Amino acid sequence: MIKLKGIGAAGGISIGAAYKLGKEEFVVLPETITWEEIPLQIQLFEEALIKTRREIIELQKRISSDMGQEEAQIFDAHLLVLEDRMLIEEVISRLKKEQFNVAYIFSEVLKKYISVFLKIEDEYLKERIADINDVGKRILRNLLGKEKRGLDDLKEKAIIVSHDLSPSDTAAMHTKNVAAFVTDMGGKTSHTAIMAKSLEIPAVVGLEGITVKVNPGDILIVDGNTGTVIINPDEATLKEYQQELLKLRHIAERFSLVKELPAITTDGREILINANIEFPDEVASVKLHGSEGIGLYRTEFFYMNRKDSPSEEEHYQAYKYVAEQMNPHSVVIRTLDLGGDKFLSQFQIPHEMQPFLGWRAIRFCLARPDIFKLQLRAILRASVHGNLKLMYPMISGIEELRQANGLLQEAKDELRQKGMKFNDNIPVGVMIEVPSAAMTADILAKEADFFSIGTNDLIQYCLAVDRGNEKVAYLYEPAHPAVLRMIRMVIDSAHQAKIKVAMCGEMAGEPSLALILLGLGLDEFSVPPQVIPELKFIIRAIGFKAVQDIASEAMKLSTGTQVEEFAKDRLAEILK
Ligand code: PEP
Ligand code: MG
Repeated sequence: MIKLKGIGAAGGISIGAAYKLGKEEFVVLPETITWEEIPLQIQLFEEALIKTRREIIELQKRISSDMGQEEAQIFDAHLLVLEDRMLIEEVISRLKKEQFNVAYIFSEVLKKYISVFLKIEDEYLKERIADINDVGKRILRNLLGKEKRGLDDLKEKAIIVSHDLSPSDTAAMHTKNVAAFVTDMGGKTSHTAIMAKSLEIPAVVGLEGITVKVNPGDILIVDGNTGTVIINPDEATLKEYQQELLKLRHIAERFSLVKELPAITTDGREILINANIEFPDEVASVKLHGSEGIGLYRTEFFYMNRKDSPSEEEHYQAYKYVAEQMNPHSVVIRTLDLGGDKFLSQFQIPHEMQPFLGWRAIRFCLARPDIFKLQLRAILRASVHGNLKLMYPMISGIEELRQANGLLQEAKDELRQKGMKFNDNIPVGVMIEVPSAAMTADILAKEADFFSIGTNDLIQYCLAVDRGNEKVAYLYEPAHPAVLRMIRMVIDSAHQAKIKVAMCGEMAGEPSLALILLGLGLDEFSVPPQVIPELKFIIRAIGFKAVQDIASEAMKLSTGTQVEEFAKDRLAEILK
């Protein structure tokens, strides 16, 4: 039994068998073949080599025209690997000798090559490992006839173990048999972690070295609440966690008694509790957990795991569906937030040194009005089917808001010309997630219909801590006095301008911190659906006056740890 501690990224406990997912890694099992089958296996190998060659040449041509010839030359080394006689001959001779399927033989030869290169003290040769690896995976994919990574193979619920997962990898788990996931890399509010919450599966990230320690098929306990992972637990531990699971279920049942009731404090202040979603079909779960509406619909996931971009009609149908399903409750559609840790191959966003500070979200949309206006038109068209609002991500100052609104106006004019109906008064909100927006919230409030504080980004920019980096995760503190002061400033500015302020970052779903946020005057919370019952339970158990006192006490403290402990103690008293 091995016990590891990482960062709990999505709550809950899961017990199950490990399924290792490498970067484009394929689990190739040995299958014995007969002597007669050898020519066919060689033919399959040759075809895979030809197909891979064609793919690389095509890729090279595209890179050459998009980025230049020098960048395209990188692929010459890949083509050389394909022609490596030694590698090809070794595969064929082992195939004849060992009589296993060619995919297995090739994966074994590949592993051997890489381990030999790893031992050589030569920087140039070391660099070739990446080429061999890359081409090798391509050949293997073609040999196996696979398009993408192996999640489709999961016949039973399994726990994914991976070095790292991109948000699009995680999005691909949406309809797959995944019970939980654990990764070497990652931070608490990376989009990968956020996706785990929306999939309602536990996740622990930042477990440096877990991929080395786990073997396929090992039994794992994943505790997303405490960030603990146990490999091959003994009987007693297994029992202990099974009991913990039951306990969690009882607590959830207790919270769920109030899920359909409004979130009103004991002295009558009503708070709106909304849900965050990434996919339209989550509305079912949103309703199940008693949400009053959707406070953040992250639309960029619509673009992931596909080769083309969604058309205006596809956008429209998705938003119409969500609007109709949630009507009369409101749905806040956040316009495309690409870049940062979310990349889409369709748009060929160049690799940047600091993607979170780069061509992201509204910056990308303002530079690509064609993509932006297509989405705006679809949102506008869907606005006649329910209570839709729209919201821009990553606004850093009033000029960006005005430019975005200018394009919104153009989108409206285009629809008018076509005689299409839309809600001309659709509320337009601003996400406050850049410190410059927080500091100028009074200016923005005059031209925005509402605010929504995106703490996932606001914290990373305020404290200079990459939200996805496990090495600095200890510095990522939602309760840091600097963060709390910014939040207070935003709420006060919004209220002075008589607009509402919501929070849709993960901080809003931290029950103890919710006490402080309530006390600071936050009007709305938008959280992962499964947190809603607990949040309602807490709000219904407290008075507004009492949380105002808690907030003002918290604002006097000097460190995030002090604030967190203070808030946890107050919450424990309330829940008692
Ligand atoms: C945020 O930054 O808090 C937010 C809600 O947006 P995202 O997590 O998608 O960046
Ligand atoms: Mg954000």
